[in-house]
Amino acid sequence: MRIEILTTGDELMSGLTRDGNFQWSGETLTWLGFDVAYHTTVGDDRLILKSVFNTAKNRADAVIVTGGLGPTPDDLTIEAAAEFFNVGLELSEPALEMMSERFRKIKREVSETNMKQVYLPEGCRVLLNKWGTAPGFSYEIEKTVFFFLPGVPKEFRAMMEEYVIPELKKRNPQMKKSCMRLVKTFGLPESEVAQKLEGIEREHVKLGYRAHFREIHLRVSTFGDSSSEAELLMKEFIEEICARLGSYVFTTEGEMLEEVVGSLLTHNNMTLSAAESCTGGLLSHRITNVPGSSSYFLQGVISYSNEAKSEILGVPMELIESHGAVSEPVVKAMAQGIRHLSGSDMGIGISGIAGPGGGTLEKPVGTVYIGLDSETKGTLSRKFQFHGTREEIKLVTVLKALDMIRQSFLNNV
Ligand code: ATP
Repeated sequence: MRIEILTTGDELMSGLTRDGNFQWSGETLTWLGFDVAYHTTVGDDRLILKSVFNTAKNRADAVIVTGGLGPTPDDLTIEAAAEFFNVGLELSEPALEMMSERFRKIKREVSETNMKQVYLPEGCRVLLNKWGTAPGFSYEIEKTVFFFLPGVPKEFRAMMEEYVIPELKKRNPQMKKSCMRLVKTFGLPESEVAQKLEGIEREHVKLGYRAHFREIHLRVSTFGDSSSEAELLMKEFIEEICARLGSYVFTTEGEMLEEVVGSLLTHNNMTLSAAESCTGGLLSHRITNVPGSSSYFLQGVISYSNEAKSEILGVPMELIESHGAVSEPVVKAMAQGIRHLSGSDMGIGISGIAGPGGGTLEKPVGTVYIGLDSETKGTLSRKFQFHGTREEIKLVTVLKALDMIRQSFLNNV
């Protein structure tokens, strides 16, 4: 089955919007074992849309179209599709009902403009949109099935998973069953990850690498005659990856580092607080991005000035004066200070020189100290020398801090 992905919208052609829908669907479908044979992007132009529908019909078995289902005049996909299929438009009652319900909840009337969205090509199969207003639809012409989905990435992905992927699988029964996982590592460069995994390739397993700012993501797909065969192969392969990479692997389920830290805190029934200097609250921000973090994250303090470190966290001024604010004793005292102030089980303190100014010969830009304090393990600290822009140094510091918390649960720090 040859698949074509057709992304539409002037904002894609002008480069204003990155074609994330293609990136996501191309990757997802390929790693599920589908043959993504063509990718086309066009602007909001009715004639061009009809012409690319025709090209796609002649060369692909399944065509996934995204964008242009909205209520504005530049949303032309529905009309172009109806003209191309040579059918009229008809009101979809289930789609109208769903849209009315959605508008009722936000106490708004369904306007005439919105009504445009629920007039779909006659004879199509409606794909109800539970994640937004514009319904999608599918239409079969000769040997080709077309799927029309909204452009909003969240809605597009949800509808791909709910309707399109299951339908593609159904239409391709001879295709091997697949299993897909995302393994993430932190702390090793890509070349070393590749070196450690040398020779791991095996039949019915697909492995791909992607560097993602200091993390290396490993996309793994396994294939089998049955789902359980693919899953068993995945289990064995993931075990082999973990055996070779050890604690550099922080997830085999695609989670973010802060989610992993959150789970560890939850499972160990522990709470955390953070005292940040050079990261300016970025660590607290990342931790609190995780839903449910209020159950384990108690307090974050941005103690940027020496006075704040001393007055809020109780770091002795003499310590700051004799060692400097960016030093081992100060981050240890910050970690202890925030732990006592908040009453949490674990406290983390961060101080560093993010640059571009402020570096010295002894403490160049990128020098960062992270301190960790807990009742069970006492106080420890680590010194790091990072490189990059101010933003990159802040970001890598946060990742290191999260990883230090994670490693402390594994007894590695
Ligand atoms: P709706 O009317 O519900 O917004 P739509 O089908 O009309 O949906 P568009 O108007 O084309 O979708 O796009 C909606 C939003 O989704 C825009 O912000 C657009 O930038 C974004 N978008 C559209 N296509 C893509 C794409 N291929 N990749 C990433 N984002 C996209």
